[in-house]
Amino acid sequence: MATTPTEALRRKYAQERAKRLRPDGNDQYLALSGRFRHYLADPYIERVEREPKHDHVTVAFIGGGFAGLLTAARLQDAGIGSVRIVEKAGGFGGTWYWNRYPGAQCDTAALIYMPLLEETGHMPAERYAHAPEILEHCDRIGKQYGLHDDALFHTQATDLEWDETARRWIVRTDRGDEFTAQFIGMGTGPLHVPKLPGLAGIDTFRGHSFHTSRWDYGYTGGDPAGAPMDRLADKRVAIIGTGATAVQCVPHLARSCRDLFVFQRTPSSVDERGNAPLDPQWFARIASPGWQQHWMDNFVANMSAGELPDQDLVNDGWTDLAQRIRGRLSAPRSGPASFADLLADFENADHEKMSEIRARVDAIVADPATAQRLKAWYRQLCKRPCFHDEYLSAYNLPAVHLIDTDGRGVERISPAGVVAAGTQYPVDCIIYASGFEVGTEPTRRYGFDLTGRDRVRLSEHWSAGMRSMHGVHVHGFPNAFLVQLGQGGNFVANVPHNLNDAARTVAAVVAHMTRRGFDTVEVTKDAEAAWMQLLAPNPVMASFLAGCTPGYYNNEGQGPSPHSLLAGYSAGAPAYFRYIEQWRNSGDFAGLEFTGRD
Ligand code: NDP
Repeated sequence: MATTPTEALRRKYAQERAKRLRPDGNDQYLALSGRFRHYLADPYIERVEREPKHDHVTVAFIGGGFAGLLTAARLQDAGIGSVRIVEKAGGFGGTWYWNRYPGAQCDTAALIYMPLLEETGHMPAERYAHAPEILEHCDRIGKQYGLHDDALFHTQATDLEWDETARRWIVRTDRGDEFTAQFIGMGTGPLHVPKLPGLAGIDTFRGHSFHTSRWDYGYTGGDPAGAPMDRLADKRVAIIGTGATAVQCVPHLARSCRDLFVFQRTPSSVDERGNAPLDPQWFARIASPGWQQHWMDNFVANMSAGELPDQDLVNDGWTDLAQRIRGRLSAPRSGPASFADLLADFENADHEKMSEIRARVDAIVADPATAQRLKAWYRQLCKRPCFHDEYLSAYNLPAVHLIDTDGRGVERISPAGVVAAGTQYPVDCIIYASGFEVGTEPTRRYGFDLTGRDRVRLSEHWSAGMRSMHGVHVHGFPNAFLVQLGQGGNFVANVPHNLNDAARTVAAVVAHMTRRGFDTVEVTKDAEAAWMQLLAPNPVMASFLAGCTPGYYNNEGQGPSPHSLLAGYSAGAPAYFRYIEQWRNSGDFAGLEFTGRD
């Protein structure tokens, strides 16, 4: 029987996946500890000495990224003023503090991605904001809500301990602080611990090297705003990795280096970006009260195959795939759609999209052999989709050399450079665009553990995987809140939507306690267990990820990780956001137990 195009494509995807599967999964990467610790040093702001803190605050929040800023802002809106942010970086911004590599930009539309636009009155300069504007916005939020004064920068929390007698948390840090807090919040982000590929010889390299999240402008010249990296004019540079980060910095390196060697294990899918400045007059027309929440709600609804909004406000590469799937689902058919029909609609829409993305490579890249190697052979959401209008054309420059490793990756590092498939490429500098830890244990990524009620550690409570109610409350850890995306909406295409929502939850709970005079809150064991039951993995998503090329979305192809963040409310993100709003507004806070005066 003749093979159909769909079968041929499935076979090709399976072959490419098989080339990349490896038994060591996450263990293929090196943790940046011990002799690799210097890769973590802050190249941007010098650490300033200060006296340790030994006082008491109402709220201590670990992490000064969007989660911390949003939570502090929502708490202040609810009348709770005292929030101390503890942050390992030298300022606010979280991932945007660290990721200052050239070309860094957010792929999610600025109007829905940048927090508190309405509250700060800031209009993003572009449809897709560049990193310096986002970092500056974080500072703007910090100033507007007065968060700088009490923030502890360049400070790593080392230990958080619940004191049952005093009904407070004791917060300890690597700067000798030991202070107490009635509440703690944690917004440590999903992608903040850089990792290196565990390559033989990696510490023998005699040239210069750094990770993209600690860009060394002292070595390269230039700056995050895009000034030319003039110090690379006589340099041979290797970049290892071709994920979302590399896609953005390669065009800048391509213009600056004498020679750029891009080491590719798996190509990214790179769709059109279509960035443009925002028009202030247009913005003034849309910015009526409540506009940002309305845009965020519209985006999440458009991203969900089960919703049918009558408008697509953002209308970009993210909503395009969802619309294609929805278009197929709603097309006339002879009888009711079976589950298999739905899966086929999903697959066909994906194949159509990926064929267009592969055709785009042919249209842009002049050398047909290079174009062939830049094509992604997997379904679009197997890896983080990328959007860029200069990445592919960078390979038309004579200084840029794509070293495709056909799924095997770099072989080793030598004192002189990078070795792939037996060939040595001598270079002056190696830039690791090798990503961040995702599937490892959360407390390893936090860099500290929590000691809760009855001296139970969070790492013990989570030994078989994360447990929570709503991704916010954890049984045994009173007055502690997580502000993150897992086990809640889990809306990966716009992470701040999750953070904003969790921040509102924290503010609502704390305000309720203040009004009623409660001093502790804790989710009950039963409520946590009931919520975990609701998080049964979506079978469509589980089987989809199982067939995907390895990457952090599918635990490097090793099957579901108990530590994966990618678990959410099974009815989908829009349903979660509706549910939780109602839960907050009801005033019952079902599942939480409050103690103290009422
Ligand atoms: P990723 O984890 O996405 O990419 C790491 C890259 O390193 C992959 O291409 C990987 O290949 C490659 N790699 C790992 N080991 C080897 C090896 N031994 N030899 C060769 N290559 C190797 O990290 P990124 O920093 O690119 O992105 C992380 C996340 O940050 C994104 O997924 C996204 O969520 C976010 N981000 C968002 C941006 C935006 O909004 N535009 C921009 C940048 C990042 P392989 O694929 O085969 O594993």
